[in-house]
Amino acid sequence: MIVVIGSGPAGIYGAFTASALGEKVKLIEEKERLGGTCVLYGCIPSKAMLHPLYLKYSLERLGKKIDFSYEELIKLAQDAISRISKGVEYMLESYGVEVIYGRGVLKSKEIEVSGQTLYPDKVLVATGTLKPEINGTIASDDLPYLNKEFNSVTVIGGGVGGIEYGWLLHKIGKEVHIVEKENLLLPKHDMDLRNYVTNHFKRIGVKLHLGVEAKIENNKVKLSNGEEIKSDIILMSFGRKPNLTGVESLPHDYWIKVNEYMETPIKDIYAAGDITGSFTAHEAIHKGYIAGLNMKGIKKPYDSSAVPKVIYTSPQIAYVGNTNSGRCMKMEFSGLARAIAEKETEGFLKICVENEKVIGGVAFSERAEEIISLLALGIKFKGSLDELLDFQYPHPSYLEMIWEILRKIKWG
Ligand SMILES: Cc1cc2nc3c(=O)[nH]c(=O)nc-3n(C[C@H](O)[C@H](O)[C@H](O)COP(=O)(O)OP(=O)(O)OC[C@H]3O[C@@H](n4cnc5c(N)ncnc54)[C@H](O)[C@@H]3O)c2cc1C
Repeated sequence: MIVVIGSGPAGIYGAFTASALGEKVKLIEEKERLGGTCVLYGCIPSKAMLHPLYLKYSLERLGKKIDFSYEELIKLAQDAISRISKGVEYMLESYGVEVIYGRGVLKSKEIEVSGQTLYPDKVLVATGTLKPEINGTIASDDLPYLNKEFNSVTVIGGGVGGIEYGWLLHKIGKEVHIVEKENLLLPKHDMDLRNYVTNHFKRIGVKLHLGVEAKIENNKVKLSNGEEIKSDIILMSFGRKPNLTGVESLPHDYWIKVNEYMETPIKDIYAAGDITGSFTAHEAIHKGYIAGLNMKGIKKPYDSSAVPKVIYTSPQIAYVGNTNSGRCMKMEFSGLARAIAEKETEGFLKICVENEKVIGGVAFSERAEEIISLLALGIKFKGSLDELLDFQYPHPSYLEMIWEILRKIKWG
């Protein structure tokens, strides 16, 4: 018998996989609803809230106006959460996974939960992360549940989370301040991307406070340059911590240590998802899947060579691999037929090639998610420049930009 702790993406895909391979699986979840951070607080509610704003933004470019209230966004988020959380419940049931509600406490290999002790053969720990808890601030997890009127918000941090929710709150009509201690948004990202995105945010009217540090004092944001920002809400966009509650006994530096087979240093105990130091649901899903296979004796390593990452603003932001070396070529969407036809010409795609193979790409554009996912496929399967040039991209499409860039790299 295998016990999985946590019903987020890593836990459920570990459970589905082991169960499909004939194992009896029990899954423990301490929250009342299933799905983890992704379904209850993260990926799903944020996408439900963002979707109407993409429509609003696109229509604005066509000279039309449409408006949504924050309450309407919350309603959409809550509908999506309920439906998908129920879906997780049905899927676990259909795989024959028994769900036990309560906090699992791991003691060597035994697990105590809700007054019973389980004696599994193997354990998968998929306990995810905890939101930052700082007095006077809220976290992005709280936004789909916010029961408070507000007109202005200060977002602390101009990284991935700060950008996505900063964009959302701006588009719903709030006054948005973003404080970032570096001089450009998106620290540690591609420099072209950072410049484009910073300029975009300035242009659309988000108030950026760059190159300064923020301190929260008496519910106010004080900046290292002496300024003070007054806003109704302060949103901490970074600082999630590993959720070790109940699994403190496992060896961890900060995250739980695993090898490529998702094995912890303790025999028969596996871990997957955010608790192992990754931050996306698709990485969690894959780590859970790989853990499920390995727990059932199918030896397969986790491959992180081509993981696409997406930030769901509009234009979208997406990237994969390395865009800091090799031969790179960047093109803007202002010349692409489909983008012109749809008035979605803002942004660029950059692709880098080394030894005649694509090694990375970054896009700030309409459909960046699809463009970068396709490039990721090319990188993952080590397609050569010639092979990727041989592939036919539909016309007129945003994907054609890949071909245009590869053609330029190859033939000038
Ligand atoms: C605002 C926001 C937006 C996001 N948007 C995206 C996105 O668009 N795309 C994307 O790929 N990723 C996104 N993410 C990240 C994504 O949510 C996480 O990467 C993903 O949820 C990690 O999955 P997990 O299974 O590792 O952990 P989690 O989803 O955190 O699940 C862990 C589960 O374990 C349970 N648990 C913990 N300890 C115990 C215990 N001892 N006993 C019982 N149960 C326990 C918790 O209650 C929780 O349900 C977002 C995150 C946030 C916060």
